[in-house]
Amino acid sequence: MKVLKFGGTSVGSIENIKRVKEIIVDGGEKIVVLSAMSGTTNALVEISELIKRSAIIEALGKVEVLQHKYVEVSNDLFETNSLKQDVENYCSQIFNFLKECTSENHTELLYNKIVSRGELLSTFIFTKYLNQEGINARLLPALEFMRIDKTNEPDDFYIKQNLQRLIENTPPADIYITQGFICLNAFGQIANLERGGSDYTATIIGAITKAEEVQIWTDIDGMHNNDPRFVENTHAISNLSFDEAAELAYFGAKILHPQTVMPAREANISVRLKNTLDPESYGTLISKGFKGEGIKAIAAKDSITAIKIKSARMLQAHGFLKKVFEIFEKYETSIDMITTSEIAVSLTIDDDKNLVSIVEELEKFSTVEVDNQQSIICLVGHLVVRHHETHRLFKVLQDIPVRMISYGGSNNNISLLVNTKDKITALQRLNSYIFDFEIV
Ligand code: ASP
Ligand code: MG
Repeated sequence: MKVLKFGGTSVGSIENIKRVKEIIVDGGEKIVVLSAMSGTTNALVEISELIKRSAIIEALGKVEVLQHKYVEVSNDLFETNSLKQDVENYCSQIFNFLKECTSENHTELLYNKIVSRGELLSTFIFTKYLNQEGINARLLPALEFMRIDKTNEPDDFYIKQNLQRLIENTPPADIYITQGFICLNAFGQIANLERGGSDYTATIIGAITKAEEVQIWTDIDGMHNNDPRFVENTHAISNLSFDEAAELAYFGAKILHPQTVMPAREANISVRLKNTLDPESYGTLISKGFKGEGIKAIAAKDSITAIKIKSARMLQAHGFLKKVFEIFEKYETSIDMITTSEIAVSLTIDDDKNLVSIVEELEKFSTVEVDNQQSIICLVGHLVVRHHETHRLFKVLQDIPVRMISYGGSNNNISLLVNTKDKITALQRLNSYIFDFEIV
């Protein structure tokens, strides 16, 4: 059995929905995880924002616009009036629900309810479409089996039990369809796996069902060796290890939700990244083994805050770092990069929600400097630290002020911290220093 996930673009137009059908009807058993149609989740987030600002008329207007789009999809995709009616009835229920939401108080739960509707729509429509095409496809509602625990981790035991039960109680099908992204929380309320979380849904299901493979279908031909938005002539990387892919996903490669690799790595299930618009291209295979050495890819993550903590008493003092780390732990803020000297430590965080309190506590025993708008540039590959070509990256230092370097923390990663205004130049320079040479 395979798990295939299709992203927003893949189900975002009639043409692409038809392509997805062609891709999945190869006779093999599969669970298909779908995102919302492209643009829908963003629209739902905006509707929720408008409700929060009490801009009810605008919120209702946005619901109308979105509803209109779905009426068109239904008209174009379905051939019989009875199918059209079925789909329109379902869509009406969803849009009436959204209209009712505009008169409620805004809460996190209301936001979660609103954003969950995108995947409910796409999976209902797609299942009906497959049925119209004579395919024995059935819907497995994610809210009947997908759940996270109090620490926001997937509740594997619950998911396994309930998914199994659901499949047993559903008439046999060749293709099962389910919603990505949405789930229940530990209290049984609607929640989600955060933006882009459908990828994560796919590997959670893949790991639990011990799938042969998980495939993530998007609109790009795999994970690229640099950010194609800023650098020309990037190319897809054919093979990545779980560790390499996890570093890239965490440090900015937009193609994968950062947590996606974890369940696959734990269960040792390969993840293949494929392009719906070009199914023949190889894509990227993420699996256990390493292939090749040296720097394979570069990614960047923005909105990073750097904090320099300086203390005269750090000189030959023990326990200083412990005190520092305890403060970050208290405020549940994770640290990404860290470098130290004898009298100061610099570290980075990406969640600055509790920055003010953290700085206040640190200032009780040190001098603190904060720099916002930093970017982490992450260089990923196998044995990057020891590889004889790696020194080329240091050429970037002659052109760009680098605020921090993290080298040697792992064999797969070297990270540089630069001011965000220098990020694009840094990515371009690194690209030419590193990839314009043949890597041996
Ligand atoms: N539809 C959700 C989003 O746009 C989840 C996903 O696409 O993975 O974030
Ligand atoms: Mg995505």
